Amino acid sequence: MRKIEHRTWICLLIAGLLAAGLLVFIVLFFKDGGQWASASFNRHLYSSSGSLLSGRLLDREGNVLSQVEDGARVISGSAEQRTAMLHVTGDLQGKIATGALTVFADRLTGYNPVLGAAAIQAGGGDVTLSIDSDCQLAAWRALNGRKGAAALYNYETGEILCMVSAPSYDPLNVPDNLERDPAYEGAYINRVLRASFTPGSIMKTVTLHAAMEELPDLFDRTWTCTGSTQIGGELVTCTAAHGTQSIGQAFSNSCNCVFGQLAVELGADTLGRYVEQSGLTSSYSVDGISTTPSSIPLEGLSEGQLAWAGIGQAQDLVNPLSMMVYMGAIANGGRAAVPSLIGRDGASLIPGSWSVRRTGTLIDAGTAETLAQLMSDNVTYNYGSSRFGDLDVCAKSGTAEVGGGQNPHAWFAGFVRDEAHPYSFIVLVENGGGGSAAAGDVAAAMLAAAA
Ligand SMILES: [Zn+2]
Repeated sequence: MRKIEHRTWICLLIAGLLAAGLLVFIVLFFKDGGQWASASFNRHLYSSSGSLLSGRLLDREGNVLSQVEDGARVISGSAEQRTAMLHVTGDLQGKIATGALTVFADRLTGYNPVLGAAAIQAGGGDVTLSIDSDCQLAAWRALNGRKGAAALYNYETGEILCMVSAPSYDPLNVPDNLERDPAYEGAYINRVLRASFTPGSIMKTVTLHAAMEELPDLFDRTWTCTGSTQIGGELVTCTAAHGTQSIGQAFSNSCNCVFGQLAVELGADTLGRYVEQSGLTSSYSVDGISTTPSSIPLEGLSEGQLAWAGIGQAQDLVNPLSMMVYMGAIANGGRAAVPSLIGRDGASLIPGSWSVRRTGTLIDAGTAETLAQLMSDNVTYNYGSSRFGDLDVCAKSGTAEVGGGQNPHAWFAGFVRDEAHPYSFIVLVENGGGGSAAAGDVAAAMLAAAA
């Protein structure tokens, strides 16, 4: 009797283990099945050179970006179009780790948990990206051979319409000197998703955001800029003596003296809290591609260094995509959609069930509205609104000193305040000089193509 009882327990234990194993398998099957099916050891899905042999990649208009022809994967378009699109589409060798051909390989095989391998053998699936090829090409041309990044997205739906990274190259005609020529340095990296740079004055948007919420008399104050001021052990300088200014004028003039003083008055802890709330130091998941968070270390800085950090210098490094999302949140009442590369219809097995993922509250709604008006004033009184046509653009420029005798980085960050064009954008021109002039022109070209 005792022996039987013992055996019963062993049977139950084995049955329990089997059930648990099956459960783990089912969960992993639905979660990772697509990746198993598209894994490189499934050789029948790949050519001898290692490129995926099923599925078409399309832009938002249905233009083919890449497909399989006569048993070989090709990347479509002219050499210029392929170069402009490289960091979106990816390459045939898999060097562009964040390219769609690599990260969406499971979707391209057409794999789904219900039909499984049957769908794969039928030639794979179509993956429609949110990218607008015309906008992409316009931004690439506006960068005009300079290194940098330009991106634009719909802050209501999350769709990325443009995501250019330079330097780039034609993936069907890879330059021999790609890995030696400094002109191609960092060509494999998507600068929008996976890099960060000294932000300069676009960072003043976050310092202003903090000051608006923490300093109740901010809008009653005036400051007099003589062109430089001593803060802690540091001489903080402006490009000119800005004279007596309101906070709005100081923001539009991008007055370093005022923003350095504001950063010190706020203190590292308080400013740090707003940096964190802004989402800049968060990593976003763009359909599974994790982005590089910005790095804004404030702790332990001297007063002088903290002043420079509030101006966007010191050790500040900003990821372009995170700034674009923050701009979207300012435009959209404090929360923005998380950026996505998959077009609305391609995001789900069930058509129409596409859902928007949203960020947390990156900025209070009331603060966002006031900040948007100040950013609109920047364009009206300083950057020039005529270059943006009829669009109501709100923006902040940045000219980031990078040292080493090099030209500063030019930045232009902002959004359109218009329900018909719910776009926010970011432009960086490395060593491009003045932010509004160099990066603002790229933003204007990109917006004109998207609108
Ligand atoms: Zn000044």
